Amino acid sequence: MSQPLNPRRAVYAGSFDPVSLGHLDIIARGARMFERLIVGIGMNPEKHPLFTPQERLELLQSVSHHWPNVEVACFEGLTVSFVRRCGAAVMLRGLRTLTDIESEFSMTLANRALAHDIETVFLMASEKYSHISSSLIKQVALLGTDTANEPLEAFVPHEVIGMLRRKFKRDQPA
Ligand code: ADP
Repeated sequence: MSQPLNPRRAVYAGSFDPVSLGHLDIIARGARMFERLIVGIGMNPEKHPLFTPQERLELLQSVSHHWPNVEVACFEGLTVSFVRRCGAAVMLRGLRTLTDIESEFSMTLANRALAHDIETVFLMASEKYSHISSSLIKQVALLGTDTANEPLEAFVPHEVIGMLRRKFKRDQPA
């Protein structure tokens, strides 16, 4: 028989490629709701991430270190298996758009079929972050080179900007 899961412990899983202000908002709100929040960086072999798992781990650790009840870890395999290994009874997800609702709904049903003792809890994205996605951030980093202000400031924590610039070699002289 498997161990009982802790309902005051939650896992917030995703790709975080890279972590955005929208993700950080969900982490801040989740840290207030749960005794312990584990941010899980999923290593999906079908995706081709810009940042390595180690880079994503370091970025997430540096932007979340001031929450004592938040920890960050990488995982392979099914998210529900990772949630179970963490002893958490809750998966935390963020919802931005109607499209998110559709895909999250089927994902939740699939996860429930795999693990009926794990509940998914959704937080609505805050209004000011609901348009932010990791793919939008990568597009802005690649194309937003001719603006006076740093356009990435509106989307990602400061720690991420330097890493993004280096990835796209924006800070190198022509
Ligand atoms: P995935 O690759 O699983 O979509 P992401 O890292 O993009 O992983 O997202 C992880 C979780 O964070 C998902 O529940 C997603 O809906 C949520 N999320 C992503 N961006 C935002 C945002 N701007 N505001 C709120 N939630 C978000």
